[in-house]
Amino acid sequence: MAKNDSGGWQQPAWNALRVGTLGPIAGFDPESTPGFDGDKTLGENLLAERGQRLAALQELLHANGRAGDNRSVLLVLQGMDTAGKGGIVRHVGGLCDPQGLTIKGFGKPTPEELSHDFLWRIHKALPPAGHIGIFDRSHYEDVLPVRVHNLVPQSEWEKRYDLINQFESEIVEQGTTIIKCALVVSKDEQKARLAQRLERPDKYWKYNPGDIDERGYWDDYLTAYQAIFDLTDNDHAPWHLIPANRKWFARLAVCELLIGALETLDLDWPPADFDVETERRRVAALD
Ligand code: AMP
Ligand code: MG
Repeated sequence: MAKNDSGGWQQPAWNALRVGTLGPIAGFDPESTPGFDGDKTLGENLLAERGQRLAALQELLHANGRAGDNRSVLLVLQGMDTAGKGGIVRHVGGLCDPQGLTIKGFGKPTPEELSHDFLWRIHKALPPAGHIGIFDRSHYEDVLPVRVHNLVPQSEWEKRYDLINQFESEIVEQGTTIIKCALVVSKDEQKARLAQRLERPDKYWKYNPGDIDERGYWDDYLTAYQAIFDLTDNDHAPWHLIPANRKWFARLAVCELLIGALETLDLDWPPADFDVETERRRVAALD
C-alpha cells in the first residue's frame, strides 16, 4: 500500500471498499474515492507503478501454476450498463501478461446454456491453475436481470444465493481466490455515457437500445444488488463496491484489490526441477 503524506491509499483498498464498510448501495456515492486521498494525476501515476507490481505477482502465479500449484485468482465484475466493466478488463487486465489471463464475458444465455443449470456455463469458464480469470458479468446475472424481470419464478431465483455461496466455497477450496467487484455508476453519469455513445461512431457498437429500458428498473436493480451483498458477501469471497464515475479511480481500486489477493497467496519462485549446477556446466560447455 502506497501510504504517504503526499496522498495515496490511507487504508488498504480491500478494507476501504468492502461492502460491509460502505453501507447500503442506495446511499453510496459513485463520485467518492473511499480510502484514497489524491487526484486523477496521482491515481494514474500510481496505477502505472502498481501495474508493474501486479504484473510481477501474476508472473509468480503463472510460474507456480506451471510447476503444479493449483491456485488461481478470479475477479468477478458486475455493474449496471456503462459502469465501465470493459474498461477494467482493458486497463487492469491489460497490465497483465495475456498468456496468464482467462477473460470471459457473460451475455444472455444461449438456448444450450438455458438447458443446463445456471452455473454450468460458469464452471466451464473458470480460470485454470496459475491464471487470473476475469468475469465481465457472471453467475450474479442470474439473480440480477433474472430477479428484476422474474425470468424464472421467484421460488427458483431465491434458491440461487445459497447455490452461489456453495459453488464459491467449493472453488475456493479447490485453490481459487475470489474477489467480487460491483462497479457503481450514478444515474446522471450513465445518461452522459449513453449520450456519448450516440455522439461517437466509434462508440455505436457499445450502444444497446435495451439499456434504456433496463434503466427504467434502476431501483429494482439496486434492491437486487443489495440482496446479493446481504446474502453472498463472505470472507472467502468478498464483495467490494467500486465507485465508477471516475474511471481512473475504479481502475486503480481494482488493480489494488487484485494485488492484495495475489499477495495473500505468499508466492515464491518455484524451485528448479533439475540440477542447476549440472545444467550450468552443460551450458558452459556448449559450442
Ligand atoms: P453486455 O455486457 O453489454 O454485452 O450485455 C450483456 C447482456 O446480457 C446484459 O443485458 C445482461 O444483463 C444480459 N445477461 C447476462 N447474463 C444473463 C442471464 N443469466 N440472464 C439474463 N440476462 C443476462
Ligand atoms: Mg452493454
